[in-house]
Parts: sequence; structure tokens; C-alpha cells
Amino acid sequence: MLFGALEAGGTKMVMAIGNENGEILEQKSIPTETPDITVIQIIEYFRDKNISALGIGSFGPIDLDRNSKTYGYITSTPKLAWSNYDLVGAIQKELNIPIGFDTDVNASALGEATWGAIMGVPSGIYITIGTGIGMGVYMNGSLLHGMLHPEGGHILLHKHPEDTFEGSCPYHPNCMEGLAAGPAIEKRWGKKAVMIEKDSKAWEMEAYYIAEGLVNYILTLSPHRIVLGGGVMHQEHLFPLIREQVAKLLNGYVKTSQLADLDSYIVPASLNDNQGIMGCIQLAKMELALAK
Ligand code: ADP
Ligand code: ZN
Repeated sequence: MLFGALEAGGTKMVMAIGNENGEILEQKSIPTETPDITVIQIIEYFRDKNISALGIGSFGPIDLDRNSKTYGYITSTPKLAWSNYDLVGAIQKELNIPIGFDTDVNASALGEATWGAIMGVPSGIYITIGTGIGMGVYMNGSLLHGMLHPEGGHILLHKHPEDTFEGSCPYHPNCMEGLAAGPAIEKRWGKKAVMIEKDSKAWEMEAYYIAEGLVNYILTLSPHRIVLGGGVMHQEHLFPLIREQVAKLLNGYVKTSQLADLDSYIVPASLNDNQGIMGCIQLAKMELALAK
């Protein structure tokens, strides 16, 4: 059986066809322009591919409340052309198949939970540190939505004592995304993150902010494992720095067997950057099962 997967991002749309084992058979990326240009291309890609269902992991905020009139919409995004846009409805109207819908980061959490680093544990969270920061939560077999969905990238942090950067989030002077996403690193240090030397203060500061975020997630969600993905986390030397800061900030308060082994508690994304698209395949499978 074939499934469609769409990772809807603010800069690009990744579309793929996969099977029930999460194997990706073909994949294509297109730039995210306005809905009237981009959604037509999405529909054309998936039409005639013989897919039984589609899974969408989308940038947000999005409406995930199935009882809401605007379920399936991208809601209040600053990308104005996509604001209050009925993404699921527009695609459903043309393809007429079950469509699973969730946040991009929840899809990644689901991909890791189904085929990757969150397999075999009852709960886990996935955090992307890239152009933005987002957090998805997988708990006891389902993805956490709550009132809207977690917006874990915008939690408020203490500034690093030596940080004079004002933050790059238009909403919050000291949120995690504004202080630690790729663009914040690049504005603060005046160069591409990938060009910053491994021994730079930049990485100590980055690890400090990521660890502050993780400690807040550990204390509120109590996940069994934390997976870190996204472009910035390709800097693998961040992992030991983050683990060290997490231990320091928790200061022994939470004692579990998982926290006693931070090397297997805080881990890199494990699916070659396909966690999102594979999660979308699983979203499609789950939606098909619901529809039956
Ligand atoms: P997106 O978040 O848009 O889906 P990415 O996860 O690739 O995409 O994140 C892009 C951001 O990550 C950019 O700000 C870029 O500078 C940063 N980035 C990408 N690769 C690296 C790398 N190897 N090292 C450090 N930063 C990186
Ligand atoms: Zn913010």
C-alpha cells in the first residue's frame, strides 16, 4: 500500500511517496510560494500516485481540533499568504482521500517513535533547532495537542550572562527560538553557523540555551527520551555540551535511571533527516485506520 507524505515548511514543501514500512520510494521538494501556486503543485504531485492516504506535517500555528470549523487550517502565521488558509481542505477537495494532519515537529516525533530513536520507550519529545525551534511530543501512543499544540520553541529563557544579543523573535525578546535558532546564532556572531569554529564561545552559549529549554521540558513533560534534530544539531559537538549543562541545571533534583545516562537520554535524530517525512507516512497510515 502506498502513502503520501507532505512536510509543509515555511521555505520548502517536501513531498514523498512511501510504503507502510516507512520506506520512501520517491521524493520531491518545491519552494513554498503562495498557496495558489504551491498547493496546485502539491495536488499535481500526489494525483495519480495511487496513494491510500496522505499525512501532512505542517508549519504553524495550525488548527488540530477536529471539532473546530477551521480544523486543518494554517492559522495565525506571519507568512501572510498562508494565514487562515485551509490546507487540508484544499488538498482533500482534489485528492479525496483521508488526510492526517499535525505539526511538523509532531510528525518528526512520530517518525522517531515509529522507526527511530523513540522506539521502545513510552514517551519522547523531538526538538528541531533550525530556521526556527519547535517541539513535538509523543506520549503513550499518541501525539500531544492540548488546547492548540505545544509551541515549545517560544518558551522564555534566562539570558546567558554574557549575551548582549537582543533576540530575533518579533514576539518575545528572550524566547528560545529568538536566542538559539540558526538565524539568531548567525545574527549574534555575524557569520554562518556552519562557519563558526568548534571552540567558539558561540557553542557554549548555544548549548546553554538549548539545555535551559530541555530542562523546562524535562520538568513539565517528563519525557523518557529527548531527540534533537534540525540543521544546527548537525554540530555534533553540541551534544556533550548540552548534556553537561542539563545535568548542571537539574542539579540532581530529578532522579531517574534515564537521567543517570544522559548519553542515551539526549540523542540525535536517527533517521537521516527523514524523521519528518517518515512521520508523515505514519500520520497517513493512522488516518486511514481511523477512516475505516
Ligand atoms: P529548516 O529549519 O528551515 O527546516 P534546517 O533544519 O536545515 O531547516 O535549519 C536551517 C538552519 O540551520 C539555518 O539557520 C542554518 O544556518 C542552520 N544550519 C544548517 N546546517 C548547519 C550546520 N551544519 N551547522 C550549523 N548550523 C547549521
Ligand atoms: Zn518567540
